[in-house]
Amino acid sequence: MADLEHRTGGTSPIASYTPAQGEEYMSERQKAHFRALLQAWKRDLMEEVDRTVHHMKDEAANFPDPNDRATQESEFSLELRTRDRERKLIKKIDETLGKIDSDDYGYCKSCGVAIGIRRLEARPTANLCIECKTLDEIREKQTI
Ligand SMILES: [Zn+2]
Repeated sequence: MADLEHRTGGTSPIASYTPAQGEEYMSERQKAHFRALLQAWKRDLMEEVDRTVHHMKDEAANFPDPNDRATQESEFSLELRTRDRERKLIKKIDETLGKIDSDDYGYCKSCGVAIGIRRLEARPTANLCIECKTLDEIREKQTI
């Protein structure tokens, strides 16, 4: 499965953040940076969703050959699953933007430590610190 949550740049690349010396964590400048990052990411995702919808409308023209039709249907269902994941991610981005507004952004929801700028740059929607995330993954593997 593609790692959608790992932001890869998209069409609106934003330079990575360099904190000033002694700058406090989640300063106004940092919040503005991550807000811009999340908004650009969301825009990319929404454009992607739009493109697929148009693509599917264009391609939905009749295919007289049943084999073509079957191939097309499986392609569509794959695209629909991807769109579904993107929609969920867009929702998560919206929630994350809300956390920036309420000053809850950037802290681990499990243990409360600062998640860290570097990790947030790579995963702007991260809500667990790397330690808690790792523990989480170990626990997940054990329950399967
Ligand atoms: Zn934690």
